[in-house]
Amino acid sequence: MRKSIKVLEQIQRIDLDVKAIEEEEKRYIKDIGSVTAEIGAEKEAVSAAGLDAEELKGQIKALDEKIRESSEKVAKDEKRLNEIKNERELNALTKGINAANKAKKQSEQEKNSLSSKLEEKKSALEAKGSKLNEKESELKRLTEELEEKKAGWKEEIEKKLASRDSVKKEIRPEVLKRYETVKAKRGGVGLVAVKSETCQGCFIHIPPQVYIQLKRGTEELISCPHCHRILYAEDQDHLEAV
Ligand SMILES: [Zn+2]
Repeated sequence: MRKSIKVLEQIQRIDLDVKAIEEEEKRYIKDIGSVTAEIGAEKEAVSAAGLDAEELKGQIKALDEKIRESSEKVAKDEKRLNEIKNERELNALTKGINAANKAKKQSEQEKNSLSSKLEEKKSALEAKGSKLNEKESELKRLTEELEEKKAGWKEEIEKKLASRDSVKKEIRPEVLKRYETVKAKRGGVGLVAVKSETCQGCFIHIPPQVYIQLKRGTEELISCPHCHRILYAEDQDHLEAV
């Protein structure tokens, strides 16, 4: 059975290598997915901030128009001051000038406050824009890296699977089947060592009689009573050499 265990060890190493490659590819695909989603959200934020900025610009333009109208009214009324005939007219005109000046001042204040809001929006837009650029170059880098690596991964996996095919001929099909069944149920690991009477797959103590049997070596494959992985004594070779 030692030979079967050695072959299973080789097969498991190949399987874990293949799994690692597949997981690396999955990680890339996952990262690309999240960066793409982040770019989408960032684009939406940029476009919303752009709309806000446009609205502010429109409001500022309307205020400019109001300020211009008030200034014109003040200038026109001030000219008329020379043509005043009586106090009643003077009072009415002065009242008009004061009101126009007040309105102008109010519009200017509003404009100032909107202008600083617009400046804030603009710097926020700029920040969002550079964040978007960063995300886009990250996406480009990830996509290019994935493309570059794909061919190498494929070749490596094919090579590994070919060597697996030739190695697996050295064990009985039912042994391989048993390994594969456990492997599928146990996170890709179907064969584990036993160290200090403890299964290194589930880290549960195995019964002494099983351990003795393992160390002695049997014709049967021995499984962990808890996680059912195929077991081998780690120091088997050493003991047998002694
Ligand atoms: Zn176990």
